[in-house]
Amino acid sequence: MKSVQQVRAVWTGDEWELHFVWRVEIDVSDAPGESTVGIDLGICTFAALAYEDETAELYPLGCLKEDGYYFGKHIANCDDSSSERAEQLHRKWSNRRTHYFHALAKHIVERCVEKRVGSITIGDLSGVREDKDGEVKNWGKHGNLDLHGWAFDRFTNVLTYKAEMQGVDVNPVSERDTSKTCSCCGQERDANRVERGLYVCDSCGLVANADVNGAENIRKVPLSPSAVSAEDRSNGWLAQPSTVLFDKETGAFAPQEQVRS
Ligand SMILES: [Zn+2]
Repeated sequence: MKSVQQVRAVWTGDEWELHFVWRVEIDVSDAPGESTVGIDLGICTFAALAYEDETAELYPLGCLKEDGYYFGKHIANCDDSSSERAEQLHRKWSNRRTHYFHALAKHIVERCVEKRVGSITIGDLSGVREDKDGEVKNWGKHGNLDLHGWAFDRFTNVLTYKAEMQGVDVNPVSERDTSKTCSCCGQERDANRVERGLYVCDSCGLVANADVNGAENIRKVPLSPSAVSAEDRSNGWLAQPSTVLFDKETGAFAPQEQVRS
């Protein structure tokens, strides 16, 4: 028996959405296991994942960028930006974005179940989103990717919901210093020395994929210092993430062949 608790109008950045809050009873699964994963969200690589089992995955979400070019161009060609045609394009674009977020969240939760992950730690970008004046930063111009801070919040909400259904906890944590710190020795640098996507540590010599280094730091945030120091981990995997791309044919995410130089 469902009953509506609340109805909200939510501005997503380009359109209004009506959100209905229902009271429903759902069966929540037991946690798939005790393992952990860290997720770093960003603009170039939408999500980087560092698993406790020493594997890493990158989700570039280039399909958002392709859609940005395509829909941007067609909307610009409309005579009138408030025309029915332009509105139709905006709606279609927004629906596709929603689909990507749902497909990605579903895929990540499936991976967590396979890898017996019981706890996801995800970088919280809501503090990054607004500057000192409370102005919402426009991320849209970066790499022509039409993404605002809300995209990350929205994705985190979808992921949290889907994960909890499978008994997986999602813990948002501050991203502070996670990109500056070496995930291997803990050395923190003032200037973030990231070159061509690589994080290079002068203290221990670690060379890692910069997004994976951030994700691994995020994974460790809620762990106790003794749990972290007891970990006996190699670090070669930090430089060898596999890339998982959205397949437009199947409408799902599929791993690509790992490219090694
Ligand atoms: Zn180091």
